[in-house]
Amino acid sequence: YQAKRDRTGVEVYESKRDSNTPDRLGLLGDLRRALEAGDVHLHYQPKVRFDGQVVGLEALVRWVHPERGKVPPDEFIAIAESSGLMPHLTEYVLEAALGQVARWRSQDLFVPVAVNVSPRDVHTPGFAGSVAARLARHGVPAGALQLEITEHVLLEDPQRAADTLNALTGHGVKMSLDDFGTGYSSLVHLRRLPVSELKIDRSFVARLAVDTEDAEIVRCTVDLAHSLGLLVVAEGVEDDETWERLRDLGCDAVQGWLVAAAMPPDETTAWLRARGSRGWQRPRAALPAAT
Ligand code: C2E
Ligand code: MG
Ligand code: MG
Ligand code: MG
Repeated sequence: YQAKRDRTGVEVYESKRDSNTPDRLGLLGDLRRALEAGDVHLHYQPKVRFDGQVVGLEALVRWVHPERGKVPPDEFIAIAESSGLMPHLTEYVLEAALGQVARWRSQDLFVPVAVNVSPRDVHTPGFAGSVAARLARHGVPAGALQLEITEHVLLEDPQRAADTLNALTGHGVKMSLDDFGTGYSSLVHLRRLPVSELKIDRSFVARLAVDTEDAEIVRCTVDLAHSLGLLVVAEGVEDDETWERLRDLGCDAVQGWLVAAAMPPDETTAWLRARGSRGWQRPRAALPAAT
């Protein structure tokens, strides 16, 4: 692969970084066009308490490439992050999510929505103000929006990140710390971030019921979070046993395929309506067959 040069002889593409392989550049161009054409969609995954009450929905971005089919978010988000497209993707997702929240509110469904934002966004000048302006334009109260960030926001310029997050919480937006335990889990930094919720990463939840070390990590995380006044959500809950362990450990809410996978907006509406005020109920376990 040869780097192209423009007329001044300056390299147009950085040939030394393998993030700029022709394949990635092709996908990047396709993603840019998909965003312009409105071909990127959001699905929504519920967060529920142990009494079944739905406490929120997480917006998860979905892109079906015309030739390649479904592209995993982790893959195209990495491309967006390393290319400067991330702010556009985030604006697109915020716009779509807030439009949906406003529609749900007009149908008497008052469920808060969480949007994932990347460290890049938090370091984009004017980010807090643009979120506040967007909320106002959609007529959505700030309390109906949550932003999920990761510890990686602190890697670059912790003070500036904290300033932006403080501005957002000042507007009334709630912050959630996603994928907790996978990064840079410094307790000093945890105290410094104005978050009201902590999400335990799926990698600790998945084997919780069979791995005593993972169970111990989850127990400590729940206790730590509670001592700091944070709500704890466990992600990736797939079975009853994990649900029960998490409930016994004092976790506040769960997300995962046991409850529901991420669903398109219409399906989400139907899901919310079907549960109504009773919330989500665990299907009753089948009685053991008489022997
Ligand atoms: P995340 O924010 O930690 O989201 C949770 C991921 O776990 C989602 O994957 C979700 O579909 C998946 N998941 C949920 N429940 C289960 C379960 O019970 N079992 C298993 N095995 N997986 C489960 P997804 O949608 O592929 O997203 C991956 C990551 O991409 C997200 O991780 C998030 O970091 C990022 N992402 C997704 N949408 C956006 C977005 O709009 N903006 C940004 N910046 N990042 C996004
Ligand atoms: Mg998330
Ligand atoms: Mg997560
Ligand atoms: Mg994750």
